[in-house]
Amino acid sequence: MKRTVGVLVCLCGLGCGGGGTPTRAVVPPTPTPVPSRPIVLRDGATGSIVDQLAPQLPGSRFSASRAGYLPRTATFRGDDAFLWPQDQGYVTALVYTAPDGKTYGMGRWMKSPVVVGAPDDPRTLAAVQRSVDEVAAAAGIAMTVVPGVGDITVEVDAGAGFPSDRTIAFTRWEEWSGLEMRRVRIVFRSNNDLVDNRKALCGNVLLHELGHALGFFGHSTEGRELMAAFCSRGDNDTFGESEKLALRMMYRYRLPGNLAPDTEPEGTRAVAAAHPLQVE
Ligand SMILES: [Zn+2]
Repeated sequence: MKRTVGVLVCLCGLGCGGGGTPTRAVVPPTPTPVPSRPIVLRDGATGSIVDQLAPQLPGSRFSASRAGYLPRTATFRGDDAFLWPQDQGYVTALVYTAPDGKTYGMGRWMKSPVVVGAPDDPRTLAAVQRSVDEVAAAAGIAMTVVPGVGDITVEVDAGAGFPSDRTIAFTRWEEWSGLEMRRVRIVFRSNNDLVDNRKALCGNVLLHELGHALGFFGHSTEGRELMAAFCSRGDNDTFGESEKLALRMMYRYRLPGNLAPDTEPEGTRAVAAAHPLQVE
């Protein structure tokens, strides 16, 4: 934040009292003291106040560790701090850990709306619209669907180089800047799985891939959740409450580049992943 301090110039001309030579006094600006204030800690799910930290100056770093929340380290900007009320192992696996086993800074979209392109066929577009509406509501962001190419492009291409015979679809993060998502591809082997019809191998794979496209680099450690790595027809075909909460925390209270378990990088040295990443 940039604050401009106005320079007070006192032009003391005639009428300044005394009849001598008019003088012109320049009063140097008095720096406005920035008051330190307590940091109110709130629950990221409910918004209710959890605790508060001793007064600090805006611009300074703070750390807060409270039972039931991820340990938070960030720069104080005069705002309340919203703590992430989830298990550290769960969030680290789902949000930060890519299939190469490495943890990355949080990747997420900043632009609005996020445009999803899909094959120009009425049934396919309708199926994509349903899943996009669901993931957009879960994250609390605006998303639209168009035929063809989008920020996220969904396509069917059986020859796209699937990592294994058992892979139904994959998501590829192709372009980002400082871990802000710029371009993502979701590729299905078969249109049956894309539109989730009777011949689909597994429930709602598109919603699973859209979860990856919005920034879940990894998978849920809860076996039957939608973002679990393996699936069967009987599994959940919508996001679980934990998955929705993770998406909301990412999009409402955190920025791209946030580091596991819940640390805001200092300054602007958010590091971009150097290569495209891919997940099934
Ligand atoms: Zn996956």
